[in-house]
Amino acid sequence: ELEKLCETKTKIWEKKEQTYKSFINKQSEALQDLKVTSLSLKDEVRKTGENYFQDLNYYGLKLSGVVHAAKNYQVVVEENRKLYNEVQELKGNIRVYCRIRPFLKGQNKTETSIEYTGENGELVVANPLKKGKDTHRFFKFNKVFGPSSTQEEVFLDTQPLIRSLLDGYNVCILAYGQTGSGKTYTMSGPSINSEEHWGVNYRALNDLFHLTQSSQNTVMYEVGVQMVEIYNEQVRDLLSDDVPDASMHCVRSTEDVLELMNIGLMNRAVGATALNEKSSRSHSVLSVHVRGVDVKTDSELRGSLHLVDLAGSERIDRSEVTGDRLKEAQHINKSLSALGDVIFALAHKNPHVPYRNSKLTQVLQNSLGGQAKTLMFVQINPDEDSYAETVSTLKFAERVSGVELGAARSY
Ligand code: ADP
Ligand code: MG
Repeated sequence: ELEKLCETKTKIWEKKEQTYKSFINKQSEALQDLKVTSLSLKDEVRKTGENYFQDLNYYGLKLSGVVHAAKNYQVVVEENRKLYNEVQELKGNIRVYCRIRPFLKGQNKTETSIEYTGENGELVVANPLKKGKDTHRFFKFNKVFGPSSTQEEVFLDTQPLIRSLLDGYNVCILAYGQTGSGKTYTMSGPSINSEEHWGVNYRALNDLFHLTQSSQNTVMYEVGVQMVEIYNEQVRDLLSDDVPDASMHCVRSTEDVLELMNIGLMNRAVGATALNEKSSRSHSVLSVHVRGVDVKTDSELRGSLHLVDLAGSERIDRSEVTGDRLKEAQHINKSLSALGDVIFALAHKNPHVPYRNSKLTQVLQNSLGGQAKTLMFVQINPDEDSYAETVSTLKFAERVSGVELGAARSY
């Protein structure tokens, strides 16, 4: 009995032992696997870590390369700007661009007096009478924009001046020409709402804000705007009614400026209906004042920009007008010739510059001469009928510009 029991127990024991053994075996196998896995995991982690550090190094190097390149770029930009200013100083700080208006839709006469325009600012106009010795006249300006030139093209050649403003220059951009020759088109464009056709003034301000915002970390800028009209030697503020001097309005964006200009244009228009298209007989001046403070050195820099849409330059026959029209004509003549004298004196580096002779030149005094750059757009009509006015406009521009050409050549 006992023996039998012993045998059974042993069997059970043996079976149990077997089971345990295989369990242990399995466990140790699993352990082995785990060991292998954990080793490879460790390996992987190490490798990933290494890769990660390698990547980090790589990007770090790249980043410092980029920072370095950016610094170098800044230096080059600064140098280029200095060089640009130096070149401009050498060329003279008065530039004259001629712009020819296209024939307008609905204009049925298409005979033109413009004979030739050249890449380097040459312009030949032909006398429609084709008599006498002066059948053709030759002029040369810094640039001539033909009838198909776009607002964008015109601005591309104006843009560097806006940069100069932030270098502390006083910049003056004027449009001169007979009524209907495109002065307002060049300065403002046909409509405030059509961005594509925006004139110099909106583009300039837009640019100015981009420039001031992109350098926000180094220089803090403040921009103020004034808008006045000069009519019969009287200055009228177009942005405010009841201040003795032109009111200054702080602006932070192009939208602010557009809003102000809209107000100014509306005020101008109100006066215009009362006085019957007075706008062509008054000068409008948009002034932009910039103050920049260097964040690090606290040094201050000031520049101002005047954008001037001049009164029509057409000669009015004194025998035909009387009263108010005669007075207007006299005031316009006086102020345009005073402007001509000032620019002439500056272009020829005369010691005395006669600013005091008109309201217009007084208003523009700080942006004409000294640390200043002047650009005059000479606007002309394309048609034969305007020939006499065109020649008189071109002669005015030629006289004031100081471009060495040996005067208007006829041939
Ligand atoms: P001004 O201010 O010299 O009296 P405007 O700028 O009012 O002349 O121009 C007279 C007309 O000719 C306007 O209808 C204007 O839109 C148009 N005009 C002037 N210049 C251009 C141009 N470059 N392209 C198209 N239209 C023009
Ligand atoms: Mg106009």
